[in-house]
Amino acid sequence: MRRLIAGNWKMHKTVSETREYIEKFLRLVEHPESREILLCPPFTSLYVAGEMLEGSGVKLGAQNCHYEKSGPYTGEVSPPMLKEVGCEYVIIGHSERRQLFGESDEVINKKLVACLEEGLRPILCVGETREEREAGMTFKVIETQVRLALSGIEEHTDRIDIAYEPVWAIGSGTPATPQDAVEVHTFIRQLLSEINPKNEGRTRILYGGSVKPQNAKEFMKHEEINGLLVGGASLDPESFAQIVYSF
Ligand code: PEP
Repeated sequence: MRRLIAGNWKMHKTVSETREYIEKFLRLVEHPESREILLCPPFTSLYVAGEMLEGSGVKLGAQNCHYEKSGPYTGEVSPPMLKEVGCEYVIIGHSERRQLFGESDEVINKKLVACLEEGLRPILCVGETREEREAGMTFKVIETQVRLALSGIEEHTDRIDIAYEPVWAIGSGTPATPQDAVEVHTFIRQLLSEINPKNEGRTRILYGGSVKPQNAKEFMKHEEINGLLVGGASLDPESFAQIVYSF
């Protein structure tokens, strides 16, 4: 399985800034086939990004989607719409969506179902808050998030990637230690093999939370870490390219 390095731009970059970024980034990407590289711009930039990335080997993903195909859902974007502009991936259940937009595990499950139906590969984000970690609840929280998200779609765990993103590490400048990440990744790996032993080892488990060019290699040294989900440090093409080629 190729390792996946994904950039989550969050609510950053206009269409013209997206063009400028991708022009620079594609010049820096030498061997896209050696790993999977993914850019997740905001909705408004997906179309132009899709056109520019076509044939480059760099993949396109969205940061969210609705679970219906169409309908009276003002302000929402559906999986078929994402598919048509060239998306192959969708980030689902990012902690900012859970915390700021009230996304429940039930809604996240519906979104995963909708992505799979459309042939989009979801990246399911899970992670504990600082209070939960300090209360010794990390594994319980992760288990609940994973089990509820995958409810009814257990047979498709090979068509999903999971990003372990401790909430306290996102955007804080303080990543988890690689050892802490490995511990949680190992736990998720065991949980997945309980959920569906047939798909053992076929779900990538990424780490996310304050990954930078300076620390990416420390994470990627560990075979339990199958890739990275990068926020802030993916906004600069040079820094993201350094992360992509850090291992
Ligand atoms: C993220 O948004 O998924 C993320 C990991 O952000 P950052 O790298 O900025 O911590």
